[in-house]
Amino acid sequence: MNDRLLSIENLSKGFSSAGRRITALDNVSLTIAAGETLGLVGASGSGKSTLSRILLRLVAADAGSIRFEGEDWLALNGAPLRHRRARMQMVFQDPLAAFNPLASVGAVLDDPLRIHGIAGKDRRPGEIIMLLERVGLTADHAARPVRALSGGQRQRVAIARAIATRPSLLVLDEAVSALDVTVRGRILELLVDLQKEQGIACLFISHDLAVVRAVSHRIAVMDGGRIVETGPAAAVVAAPQSAAARALVAAPQSAAARALVAAVPRLVTDPC
Ligand code: ADP
Ligand code: MG
Repeated sequence: MNDRLLSIENLSKGFSSAGRRITALDNVSLTIAAGETLGLVGASGSGKSTLSRILLRLVAADAGSIRFEGEDWLALNGAPLRHRRARMQMVFQDPLAAFNPLASVGAVLDDPLRIHGIAGKDRRPGEIIMLLERVGLTADHAARPVRALSGGQRQRVAIARAIATRPSLLVLDEAVSALDVTVRGRILELLVDLQKEQGIACLFISHDLAVVRAVSHRIAVMDGGRIVETGPAAAVVAAPQSAAARALVAAPQSAAARALVAAVPRLVTDPC
């Protein structure tokens, strides 16, 4: 029980849209152990982003509970929530939407270090260089505006910013979906390295089973707001039990997806 970093129980969420009631999440339960990568996969509209937004506390759940690091996560508010957010960080599909594109890379990384009191003013430049190197960039990148970077480099900065506060959990929602296939493979490798080196747990969300399979220890499959299947990544891909998982496995793979699977054939080999 102690290694349960995150435990989501019976989470439900509905939306009213044009007079219709949409059930985005229907009694969703899942757990993530410390240091584990759980892949959450499902077709578009299955409820994945609603789950990540509730975790982020951007959207309120209608029902259910979330325990994170032993605390009632949905009961936290105000200063305690701001403080605890350091432990659960997010990476989105579009890094430019997540930070000021005019800011320099150094400024983007300085913010979380300052706001969360990770390092004093004189230690922060060194900390920024360490973060850049950890995500495969160099000290030279600190002075550049984020806007001048390539898509892959921006996503590296987003990951550096996310790990700056020393989180125990990263939530990545379609974090590699906008990247071309080579860059995507490199970012996936980086995530697996970080996860192995630092023991950061990940909730890795994607509509693409090939991508999820490459990085995850376990996979949960969503369909129509429900988790319809959960199991070790290899088992879900090799012997899908649910109709939704079978459809994802059978989906005609693009040439790019096939190349990715060939390049990163299960980066994660040892389930924790
Ligand atoms: P996914 O990330 O798996 O594509 P989402 O969580 O974004 O799925 O959406 C799940 C369902 O909830 C969809 O039917 C979507 O249209 C609906 N939905 C999500 N957010 C809202 C909202 N703010 N208002 C109305 N409907 C929403
Ligand atoms: Mg989504």
